[in-house]
Amino acid sequence: MIEQHISEAGQNAIPLVRTKKALHNRVNRRELKERMKNDPVKRVTLSFYKYSHIPDPVAFRNELYRWWDALGVLGRTYMAQEGINAQISVPEANFEQFKTLMNSYEMFRGMRLNIAVEAEGKSFFALIIKVKDKIVADGITDPSFDPSKTGVHLNAEAWNQASEDPDVVIVDMRNHYESEVGHFENAITPDVTTFREELPLVAEMLEAHKDKKILMYCTGGIRCEKASAYMKYKGFENVFQLEGGIIEYDRQVKAKGLNNKFIGKNFVFDERLGERISPDIIANCHQCGKPADTHVNCANIYCHILFIQCEECQEKHAGCCSETCQDFHALPVEEQKLKAPSMVFNGSKFGKGAYKAFRKAGGTLNG
Ligand SMILES: [Zn+2]
Ligand SMILES: [Zn+2]
Repeated sequence: MIEQHISEAGQNAIPLVRTKKALHNRVNRRELKERMKNDPVKRVTLSFYKYSHIPDPVAFRNELYRWWDALGVLGRTYMAQEGINAQISVPEANFEQFKTLMNSYEMFRGMRLNIAVEAEGKSFFALIIKVKDKIVADGITDPSFDPSKTGVHLNAEAWNQASEDPDVVIVDMRNHYESEVGHFENAITPDVTTFREELPLVAEMLEAHKDKKILMYCTGGIRCEKASAYMKYKGFENVFQLEGGIIEYDRQVKAKGLNNKFIGKNFVFDERLGERISPDIIANCHQCGKPADTHVNCANIYCHILFIQCEECQEKHAGCCSETCQDFHALPVEEQKLKAPSMVFNGSKFGKGAYKAFRKAGGTLNG
């Protein structure tokens, strides 16, 4: 990830033509994917988020959609009254124009753009901007909660320094399946499946440590913006957060040759499911218990449960989470279709994204 801030200058008029095109994509996904594969246009893949009050998200969504569509921007973006969260790709040739455009909005000035270094720019093939209730679901209903009153942002160096203080509490604001494969040294890793259930839990856990410094971190920083504001809302005063999350921390540690305090893998929500940060393997295979930290989705698409599987088990069970799935997966596709509605898999029992099945089954998915 390269850190890039939208320049403060950018006084040039935008040589942009706003088209009167439809505000939604009308071509089917397979066709778009095929088109993208053959598209010679070089693209910059990036992400950004910004908490800022947007009074009319639908109107702003439509406005941004027209501009971005004219610039050939692709990707997935969420917009809500509390702000915006975007994962997009921009044609390289239009990147300066894109920055000028974004800079013309006060709320985006000086914002960090996280640019993916190794991405091929083929991750997206349509432009989707969705209006939602919240950009990060938090379950907070109190209208007096202000997500802009965040904690103090720390860069990697300041984070390392602060975390050495014996009187700090380090909290991982991600879910159990993320912290299972990697976390900061001495961090508290709450056993939760959603951010929404984690917020009140963490405030309760730390109630006795109100006098201490609270250091929070997450994958890319967006969850901690809200989590730190929530802790302050709950009366905590010394609240700090890792700026740009583990992704930006890792980049700074490598670029500046700092001491790395993150052990294991950083779970990421794309097809890789994890980036190795340190050589340590801190998790175990959910089937045989051997050290392993590779997340996979069960090969049986009707199950698809996310779990950790070692290479041996991957081979032995054909990438499946259980014997039921393995047997089912071996059936002809047509037979699977007919039988699927009457079957119960780990994924259908426990949710596709969460492998609580592992712990409910006493440590093994096969049992
Ligand atoms: Zn195994
Ligand atoms: Zn399965």
